[in-house]
Amino acid sequence: LSSSSLSPSLPLRGPLSRFISTLVLAEHEGGLVKQSSLSAVAAAASINEEKSVTVLLGGSGPSLHKAASHAASCHPLILQVLVAEADILVHPLAETWAELVHLVHKQSGFSHIISSSNSFGKNVLPRAAALLDVSPVTDVIGISEPRLFTRPIYAGNALCTVRYTGADPCIITIRSTSFTLSSSSSEAKSNAAPISQVDLSTFDEGSLPKSRWLNITSQESERPDLANARIVVTGGRALKSAENFKLLEKLAEKLGAAVGATRAAVDAGFVPNDLQVGQTGKIVAPDLYMAFGVSGAIQHLAGMRDSKVIVAVNKDADAPIFQVADYGLVADLFEVIPELLEKLPDK
Ligand code: FAD
Repeated sequence: LSSSSLSPSLPLRGPLSRFISTLVLAEHEGGLVKQSSLSAVAAAASINEEKSVTVLLGGSGPSLHKAASHAASCHPLILQVLVAEADILVHPLAETWAELVHLVHKQSGFSHIISSSNSFGKNVLPRAAALLDVSPVTDVIGISEPRLFTRPIYAGNALCTVRYTGADPCIITIRSTSFTLSSSSSEAKSNAAPISQVDLSTFDEGSLPKSRWLNITSQESERPDLANARIVVTGGRALKSAENFKLLEKLAEKLGAAVGATRAAVDAGFVPNDLQVGQTGKIVAPDLYMAFGVSGAIQHLAGMRDSKVIVAVNKDADAPIFQVADYGLVADLFEVIPELLEKLPDK
């Protein structure tokens, strides 16, 4: 697919429309729409049963066009994919992307704008909401009507029902663990949505850069991504050192799991902070969550209590983690982990 083969932008309804038309702000990597953005598509599709979802992708080069094709066939309710092709959009600079969302909304007029509640969506959408003079509803975990949402408050200890009564667009960020869309349905694949270019002629790059992209430093890892892993093994302060965390890494390798950590373990410097699970870290909901030497503070539970099966190993029988655990073992992790390593088969 080349940019010249893209069809012109489809006519959409104006900003005063009472109909549902949802824009999903999506991220892509390696020619695929990211899993967290597929969750945002699932959330958008749950608002209305009509074909009313537009996916917005930005960047440049072949991987953008591959991701656009992926987006076009990832859900049968996708009406169209909009591609904003510009070098300035290759990196997730919040001011630039917020301007883009503002521009695309001015061109087409959406009732809803949705993104995942990850570092990208949390950075861009509140800025876009400010430019559009509306209040965003953040961290949504349930959509019961087009403008009626459920979101956690008090670190997940209570659920709040929010009715959005403001003007269009209704801007929301969603928790990707609450909405799943894993693979494209055959209906969507055989009936791919059209891909159109965003008209960037009025996109004023000159006045934008309040921030500049310098570089990205990331660690290559063969292990699954923490936010989307099926199994997570987490260590707490009780691991005592970075060296001892290697025990947990070995266990993760055997189980094909991602490694997580509590804030206490991160603050102590045992592991980098992108492994932190919790209120101020990542929100995870794997099939299996194994917590070793984790006390179960509410801020930690806020990030993992939706896991399907929770296993906790702690020396203290009164540790709060046992209140949410499906399986609890009162034992020393330094005995349990080596035993697990010995008994589990290699992957
Ligand atoms: P501890 O509370 O010290 O617990 C260690 C546990 O290990 C104990 O239960 C102990 O019995 C057990 N233990 C000790 N030795 C062994 C052994 N040999 N074998 C087995 N068990 C053993 N925390 C997060 O995790 N994520 C967050 O996102 C987060 N956000 C926060 C935000 C705010 C605003 C605040 C105030 C706090 C936040 N915290 C967060 C910190 C949180 O309150 C706790 O301090 C932290 O989760 C505790 O980490 P821990 O369980 O590793 O340590």
